[in-house]
Amino acid sequence: MTETEPRSDVVLTAEAVTRHFPVRRGLAQLLRRQRPVVHAVDDVTVTLRRGRVTALVGESGSGKSTVARLLAQLQPPTSGRILLHGQPVAVRGGRPFRAYVRRVQMIFQDPFASLNPVHTVRYHLTRALRIHGTAGRGPAERADALHRLLERVALTPPQRYLDAFPHELSGGQRQRVAIARALGADPEVLLADEPVSMLDVSIRLGVLNLLRELTERLHLAVLYITHDIASARYFADETLVMYAGRSVEGGDSETVTQRPAHPYTRLLVGSAPDPDRITGAAPPAVPDRGDGEPPSLIRPPAGCRFHPRCPAAMPRCATDLPPRLDVGDKPGHWAACWLYDRHTAASFAGAGKGDG
Ligand code: ATP
Ligand code: SF4
Repeated sequence: MTETEPRSDVVLTAEAVTRHFPVRRGLAQLLRRQRPVVHAVDDVTVTLRRGRVTALVGESGSGKSTVARLLAQLQPPTSGRILLHGQPVAVRGGRPFRAYVRRVQMIFQDPFASLNPVHTVRYHLTRALRIHGTAGRGPAERADALHRLLERVALTPPQRYLDAFPHELSGGQRQRVAIARALGADPEVLLADEPVSMLDVSIRLGVLNLLRELTERLHLAVLYITHDIASARYFADETLVMYAGRSVEGGDSETVTQRPAHPYTRLLVGSAPDPDRITGAAPPAVPDRGDGEPPSLIRPPAGCRFHPRCPAAMPRCATDLPPRLDVGDKPGHWAACWLYDRHTAASFAGAGKGDG
């Protein structure tokens, strides 16, 4: 949250959350370590605001889905807190958890797997309405509620879809039903984990547009998980970039995608060509490449986790963990990179003058 924004806009926050998974015994023995863990997420903070979309971007295995599961309370954090309207929540089971699940709904990547093939759309939506106590009092009210849900996701006329089975719908229609089912809970937050990556390219835009419209019309706070940084520019208000379990850059989406500061973000943007990219004044020079693979999360590199791949790495990058540092003059734009440390940048520039 920036200083100037009213606190009431913040709906859900993951505050400095860490999630480590114990490694299976066989592998632990093989590695001859005491109790090794997978560092899936380390010290990540994400803030979701009313009427805004926040994109969580990174390559496979960077920890995006784990952050979503922590926010959904499907798993507890190893450390850190989940705050709903500023209040800590750590509720598993019982009424408080049911109330939480109603307010924080997830949309999954695979609409084929998330709907039961033997049940109709009517069944799926009625069940959601009943579970969350939003089904109305009698058959007429329930029918109204069902129609409203389908109209909200632009499946009209509703009668055409209510008695359809999942296999009778297209992938995009199925994902719209999954979104309608989530809306049946009357939530405040949607956690959308790669919601369009399994859909045909031709229908992705329609589903993203729908989510955008719902965000604005219903004042939802939306987390949009994606490995496609170009779509974050189009769809999200803010973007947070993750690498190997850590958040490495954040800010408004236009700035992060058009003027990426962290060498990893620049690598991501460089490999997702966007003809509209505005270059503007250049941040510290970094070659537009970064060879290699993401590191092991069982023994992540010390210092900056990107240093083994980073074309701009300096000696301290291998030992010191970079904090969030402000970038340029755009408020709220930060990168966890020593290039933006004023002292380091000065000595780096000084060393550069002697080169060649
Ligand atoms: P993808 O885009 O492929 O879904 P992601 O960025 O969402 O990747 P996560 O699914 O959050 O990444 O996984 C982060 C790391 O944590 C991975 O190395 C993964 O193997 C590991 N991991 C996730 N869940 C578990 C678990 N239950 N037990 C052990 N390791 C896990
Ligand atoms: Fe590269 Fe160092 Fe910045 Fe990490 S801290 S991204 S290694 S320059």
